[in-house]
Parts: sequence; C-alpha cells; structure tokens
Amino acid sequence: MKKKYLSIMAITIAFILSGCFFAQDDKSPEQNEPDNQVSVEPKEAEDPEEKPEKSEEDPIEEIDLSIQPNELGEIMILMYHGIGEEEMDWQRTPDNFRKDLQYMYDNKYQMISLNDYAKGEIKTKAGYTPIILTFDDGRQNNFNYIEKDGDVVIDSDCAVGILEEFKNKYPDFDVTASFFLNTNPFGQSEYTEQKLKWLVDNGYDVGNHTYSHLEMETLDSEEDIQAEIGSVNNIIKSYLPDYAVETLALPHGSNPKDAYAGSVMEGEYEGSKYKTIAILDVGWRPAYSPFDTLTDFTSLYRVTASEINVDNCGMYDYFKSYENGNRERFISDGNPDVVTIPKRHEEYLNMEMVGEKTVNIYEEN
Ligand SMILES: [Zn+2]
Repeated sequence: MKKKYLSIMAITIAFILSGCFFAQDDKSPEQNEPDNQVSVEPKEAEDPEEKPEKSEEDPIEEIDLSIQPNELGEIMILMYHGIGEEEMDWQRTPDNFRKDLQYMYDNKYQMISLNDYAKGEIKTKAGYTPIILTFDDGRQNNFNYIEKDGDVVIDSDCAVGILEEFKNKYPDFDVTASFFLNTNPFGQSEYTEQKLKWLVDNGYDVGNHTYSHLEMETLDSEEDIQAEIGSVNNIIKSYLPDYAVETLALPHGSNPKDAYAGSVMEGEYEGSKYKTIAILDVGWRPAYSPFDTLTDFTSLYRVTASEINVDNCGMYDYFKSYENGNRERFISDGNPDVVTIPKRHEEYLNMEMVGEKTVNIYEEN
C-alpha cells in the first residue's frame, strides 16, 4: 500500500512538472484501480470544513460546454479607413458600414477593445466571438461635428455617429473602436480636444499612426522612429494627459528594420516616454487568439473591412468561412478568468498569456 501511494505521488509530481496539472481529466489508469483510491484521497476528503474551494462555485463547472467554447479560435481585427458617400478601396459608405455592424450583431459577434485583446482580458459573453474595429488615418468622416439647429452635434453618418446608433440600439453589442491618428486628428482643429476627450469618455480608444505616415522600413535611425511615434503620442497626451496610448498601426503595414524594432515598442521623444503593447499590420487574415502561441503582438494581422479589391481576403470572405465551418472563430466561455479550449488545440496554449487564469481543457464529442 505504502509503495503504491509513493508511486502515485511520483506520478502526480511528474504531471505537475510536465505542465499537465491543468488537465482536469483524472484518466491515468493508476487512479482508476479501486485499490489505489484510498491512498489517492487523503484525510481532508472526510472533513468538509477543510475544503473552502469546494464550497465556492467552481468556475469550470459553471461553463456550458454545449456551446463548444474555443478560446484558441480566431479573432478578426477589422481595418476601416473612411466612411463616406462613395464606396472605394479605402472607404465604406454609411449604409455599408451599418450593414457590416448588423451582420456582426446578428451573427453573435461582440466588440472588444484592442487594448483588452492585447492584455488577454476577454469579457465577451458565452457563445459569442470577440471582434475588434480599427480606423486608420483619423479622417474627419470618422468623427465629424456638424451644426444642427444652432447646436454642434455628431454627424449621424460619420463612423462615430453610426457606432453610437448601434450602441443605443444594442447595448449588449459592447460597441467600441480604436482610432489611429496622425498629426491632425479628425480635421476640424477647433474640436480636436473635445473629440478626443469625448472618445475616451465614451469607451473608445485612440492609437498611434505616426507623424508622417512614412513606411517604417525607410527609417534609418532610432531617433527618426522615436520622433515619428513619440511626437504623435505627445500630441495626444497634450489633450489627454491621463490616457496611455499603447497601440500602433503601421502606415502601409511597413515594419521597421530589425535593428530598430525595439524603438517601436518603447522610446522617448522630447522628454515623454511611450510603450507599445500591440502593433497592427495591414492585412490579410484574422488574428489568432491572444492565448495562442502563434500570436505576435508586435505584428498583428488585420482583415480589410471592404468588399472591393480584397482578393478573397475581405471581411465577408472570412465571415463566410466561419459560417461554413472552414475556419474556427473564438467562442467565449463567458468567464474572463477561465480559458476554455478543446483538447486538440492544447499545444498552442501560451501559458505566459494565460497567467493567473484557470485553464479548462475539454474533449469534444
Ligand atoms: Zn494610414
């Protein structure tokens, strides 16, 4: 008996050392032999007062596996530019943008912020897929003020106006977006401060799209890169002193030379420091889950939010692939502190991103 107990201890320790302790299935054959069960479960099993964890709700038991949660499925980071009267390569009409949002809502997508994605904080409700909206270039038609009956109001056909329309219509859509800005955010310089403050106060984010919109690979010094990024950070900071700009969209999707990659992540310009947690490329496919070892937060894929000239890599091509089951989308388990994945994806789980969260691995039927 004693010998068997020791061998089970050794197996248990081996499991812990090999990182398998989060696999909740007690399927090792040793533990299924009736003779062993006495020694596997020592005294505390008989003392109910000594088991505070068991009396609390078990977060894993609360998870509904019938919705097939898959927190290693893909998440789309949509890349929009303008919203305007004519449908073009880098512009969506107001009605097409409304169509996109309606499709997302009707097909169980729920918006999250890029910043939350980069931190692995997914608060999406059970059975839903997170989706991230980004707008590059800080165009006036992203956030436009107009005069109406003597008042200054948000243009109902600009991006923010349409997003607010959906926020009011569907509070559970969790409407948010990130706007990537250059030197003159949203035109109308008389309203810059008002717009930036309004965005942050209303649950939106702003990110960096650099000072000159140059291709990063053409820059040949750390100083140049720090000036391109730091100057825009300082402009935003001058209006939003308490807001941390943590995200960057690379102009033209151009990456810096390897030697200067560090300056994109961290740097200083005119006495102000910046730190980047997520860098966005331009195309052409959905991003991986933040918990996926394949995710590179310094080079995140985006999907072009358009239906023209997208080479079968536009947003609706991927939406259709998910509908047909040709690709796997992230399906939330509903608990931000638990990461639930099908066993077949186990090898891709990035435990560093999981951190303190509970891992829940299950076998599909
Ligand atoms: Zn741009």
